[in-house]
Amino acid sequence: MNLERPVPFLDLKRSHSPLRDRIVAALAAVCDSGAFVLGPEVERLEQTLAEYCQVPHAIACSSGSEALLLALMALGVGPGDEVIVPSFTFFATAGAVTRLGATPVFADIDPKTFNISPPDVARLIHRTTKVILPVHLFGQAADMGPILALGQRFNIAVVEDAAQTIGAEYQGRRVGSLGCIGCFSFYPTKNLGAMGDAGMLTASSAETAEKLRLLRVHGMHPRYYHSHVGINARMDAFQAAVLNVKFELLESWTAERSRLADTYHGLFHEFGLDGVIGLPSASPQGRHVWNQFVIRVRDGRRDALRRHLLERKVGSEIYYPLGLHEQECFRRLGYAPTDLPETFAAAREVLALPIFPGLTVDEQYVVVARIAEFYQSAQSRNQVAAPVFLSRSAHRVSSSLPD
Ligand SMILES: *Cc1c(COP(=O)(O)O)cnc(C)c1O
Repeated sequence: MNLERPVPFLDLKRSHSPLRDRIVAALAAVCDSGAFVLGPEVERLEQTLAEYCQVPHAIACSSGSEALLLALMALGVGPGDEVIVPSFTFFATAGAVTRLGATPVFADIDPKTFNISPPDVARLIHRTTKVILPVHLFGQAADMGPILALGQRFNIAVVEDAAQTIGAEYQGRRVGSLGCIGCFSFYPTKNLGAMGDAGMLTASSAETAEKLRLLRVHGMHPRYYHSHVGINARMDAFQAAVLNVKFELLESWTAERSRLADTYHGLFHEFGLDGVIGLPSASPQGRHVWNQFVIRVRDGRRDALRRHLLERKVGSEIYYPLGLHEQECFRRLGYAPTDLPETFAAAREVLALPIFPGLTVDEQYVVVARIAEFYQSAQSRNQVAAPVFLSRSAHRVSSSLPD
């Protein structure tokens, strides 16, 4: 086992290389077809993904951010409206709300899953709440049961931000089929990634789907007649061609991500770190698709651990270093950082570790061994009696792992 080897945070070449010839052929076919925007490749993708997401309608678009914008436009969100979103998410979730002149209202998260907290959503609902917009973060569905019940009780639409979570399930149902609209991203780092920007919407009602299709092309139908003011959010055929090829491996990649997550759990246990590090857990409510493997590093040591890993060429990322309620652009909304205590704590403790198709068990071993090394050296510096993580695990794990 070479502990000195670098481990990338993400290496897309490993999932693309077995498909490279087919992807290039599909791109060449689009090149020769002359149909570059929407068209047959995009329609094929929409059909495939509607079935995969267990919804009657899928509408391809130009990005996950535009999907969110279109969803809120279709629901008529505008000035004076409030949209409840988690504070602990990628910026686009709240950006779409603000772009339409509405106000994002930030909810706190469940500390175990990092997903939006249903009791906090209940606390924030009032007269001007127009939409509840939960995010399925890191590959795991939000706790949708109570959120959908709140939506029904108060007649508020529920839109899912499923950008990180294609194929995840909640109580046996795929994400994107739970709320009235689902928003997906095919940004290259997502579980199904394009080779550029692309996104998708799912809808259960034909009327909503029709509206989304219209808004995607400037509200235009027939050509040059505009019933609504929409935007240009069309998907290009090159991205659809890549996605149609890559889709065939999505289920096997998801299974692989799940195995990688299990391996991390096993390794953290072997190294005696499972009491030291907060490990992510899959809720029994559904199927986790592990877009990210996010640990919690307590006692203010997250940034030091990240530096330790970086210096040893082990990749990691921080999703997200600030809650949206702490962002400069939302200062006018008047939140104090600790108004959302779980978001505040998570932003200071989370660290995402490498998890992607093609990551090897040896590389995972290096990641966890380097983390163990950090705790071991820090403890010996503090002259505290340290459990001997490395020797204990080296004994147990080396017999089961290839070199
Ligand atoms: C990636 C992402 C988006 C935005 O998708 P883009 O395709 O990058 O515009 C929105 N929400 C969440 C939670 C995301 O992770």
